Amino acid sequence: MKNKYYVTTAIAYPNGTPHLGHALEIIQADAIARFHKLLGKDVFFQTGTDEHGTKIYQSAKKEKKDTLKFIDENVKIFKNLYEKLNISYDQFIRTTDEKLHHPGAIKLWEELVKSGDIYKKKYSGLYCVGCESFKTEKELDKGKCPEHPTRDIQIIEEENYFFKLSRYKEQIITAIEKDEYKITPEIRKNEILSFLKAAKDISFSRPRSTLPWGIPVPGDPEQVMYVWCDALSNYITGAGYGRAEDRFSKLWPAECHVIGKDILRFHAAFWPAMLLSAGIDLPKELFVHGFVLAKGGAKMSKSEGNVIEPFSQIETFGVDPYRYYLLESMPLGGDGEYSEDLILKRINSEIVGNFSNFCYRILSFTEKNYNSEIKDIDEEKVIKKITPKFEEIKKAYENYDFKKALENILAISALGNSYFQEKEPWKDIESSQEVLGTCINIAKNLSILLQPVMPEACENLQKQLNLKDLTWKDLNFELKNQNIGKPEILFKKIK
Ligand SMILES: [Zn+2]
Repeated sequence: MKNKYYVTTAIAYPNGTPHLGHALEIIQADAIARFHKLLGKDVFFQTGTDEHGTKIYQSAKKEKKDTLKFIDENVKIFKNLYEKLNISYDQFIRTTDEKLHHPGAIKLWEELVKSGDIYKKKYSGLYCVGCESFKTEKELDKGKCPEHPTRDIQIIEEENYFFKLSRYKEQIITAIEKDEYKITPEIRKNEILSFLKAAKDISFSRPRSTLPWGIPVPGDPEQVMYVWCDALSNYITGAGYGRAEDRFSKLWPAECHVIGKDILRFHAAFWPAMLLSAGIDLPKELFVHGFVLAKGGAKMSKSEGNVIEPFSQIETFGVDPYRYYLLESMPLGGDGEYSEDLILKRINSEIVGNFSNFCYRILSFTEKNYNSEIKDIDEEKVIKKITPKFEEIKKAYENYDFKKALENILAISALGNSYFQEKEPWKDIESSQEVLGTCINIAKNLSILLQPVMPEACENLQKQLNLKDLTWKDLNFELKNQNIGKPEILFKKIK
């Protein structure tokens, strides 16, 4: 497929219910998917859940539930959240899916064996069950895992399979340096390049006794695949690897993996090494987002009591403003902050005060004074100011810089507001119809530019303009002789 665009999120670990970080990532991926659809691409958007591992197995046990039943319940909550967030994913992949996922994960393992990159080795180390990973002395805080201070660190000696990551590091470094596998933002690119220089082979399996819930290693059922081959492989199995090779060859490589900064190494070192070993093309880009912190920059955690879960926020603020805020508040390369008064401020000043008021004002003015009709447009310098912004916004979206995209979009709306204000069409209704023609065109353009971020409101706005399914090609000032529909207020101030 020449014009295809394959975008993924990391697969969530459904050991509990979704949090703000899950909401952020899926919203970002959704905005990316919608943006590329606007450009006319054939988009395939995949998300899913990573359902194996000791932690899930133990959590289910603790609740005295069958493991899969425990997972099913949580997955349902994730899916429910994505529905509430208006997420347009095409496929939800689950790593316990024996039809969609297991054949490809097994095939990938076998390819790595064929390449001579899997070997067995005795390993002894400090293990945190919470993280499901070995730790170095340096990573511990007073002998405890900083992420899981209530759990004891275990010393585990076991014989595992290892994967020859070290064999591919030079190749990956080159691919990343040359942007053949492009890492955005730059700060993450530098971080991974310094990690890769010292990268060692990675443990790739666990004995069934320590990891009872997972995919057995082909040919050695006493060993279970560790998360790398089990979970990272979802990006190719979802596209058809190991079961629908035709489809896979059309969809792969992915254009973009969206992930959080805490799993950079897995996606920018382990994953490309596995693909190179199996002779599979590398994905094109990796977009790495930061964390959503509480106001003031504190980490949200249950023990701090400052966790803000997504469901109630969507209920309070509405899905579009919630999406808008999360995308707007996350600087490229840094962390964002979330609090109810921060989101409230944005809604009232930007979404209502700037965008929504502009649209309602000009639409109702047109309805009242011109019988809902625009004819021509006013050849005005405001058009010259706005038009170059289309390209800037496109670039910002392409670079995953939603903050910059939204700043520019809001600037267009502000230009529309001041243009309307300066022209004072109410003073001379008769000769001002063209002013409204220009304004209606501005609103039309806003309904396209904002669509990846606020799909519901933009659909509504297009309906008010008597338009539908506009794409990036419709960004212009060519709408003339148009009858508009009934004006409606898109957003109201929240107290
Ligand atoms: Zn831990």
